[in-house]
Amino acid sequence: CGIVAYTGYRQAYPILIKGLKRLEYRGYDSTGIALLNEQSLNVYKKKGKVSDLEDFLADINVNGTIGIGHTRWATHGEPNDVNAHPHYSFSKNLAMIHNGIIENYSSLKQELINHGHEFQSQTDSEVFIHFIEHVQEKVNCSLEEAIRLALKEIVGAYAIVIMSKDHPNTLFAARKGSPLVIGVGEKEYFLASDATPIVEYTNDVVYLDDYEIAVLSRDSLTIKTIEDESIAPYIHTLEMEL
Ligand code: GLU
Repeated sequence: CGIVAYTGYRQAYPILIKGLKRLEYRGYDSTGIALLNEQSLNVYKKKGKVSDLEDFLADINVNGTIGIGHTRWATHGEPNDVNAHPHYSFSKNLAMIHNGIIENYSSLKQELINHGHEFQSQTDSEVFIHFIEHVQEKVNCSLEEAIRLALKEIVGAYAIVIMSKDHPNTLFAARKGSPLVIGVGEKEYFLASDATPIVEYTNDVVYLDDYEIAVLSRDSLTIKTIEDESIAPYIHTLEMEL
């Protein structure tokens, strides 16, 4: 239901928690965060409020300057800790948050099970991230290319953000039918379902369009369509009332 993500020079965790609280008005049943640092990719998720996740993490070292955060409104699989996002790939190399519904998830899931994938959750979303990993292995291509090829097979609606251990400063995002806004800072980028978590850091935003894939590193932003055409990012400057 709600997405917040950050890559840059600041600690991501406080930005994600604050952002998720700003998106609480959208309604949700569970919350989760993934953070990447030099040592590891860590995923924390809980049924309940953003403040429940915050309490759960009070004594944990939540270090990392890149991260993704999600509030879930369950469509496939009951609200519980395991079904909460982020979901991760079979190798635990990739983590993903997803808003929307994957309509062809059950046939994709069966195909992946036939290839040895095991699933933790009942969600359509977990199938999505396993499928991207599967495509990357099969085609032997970059992660960006695997995301693009996988999206061509996905039926349904999505806003997704993906992080990879192999790309420690980079967020990969895409949308079709669910909103996603990029916040453009100085050597930092934000992503969110709407601009409310972003505006306290920057007024410069790029609205991602359907069938577009964005790759955000600390100091670069590239956008392509799922047909592999480059798009020049159009930056809107939001006028904020103080
Ligand atoms: N369909 C996904 C799920 O049930 C995402 C729901 C959402 O948009 O929060 O986990």
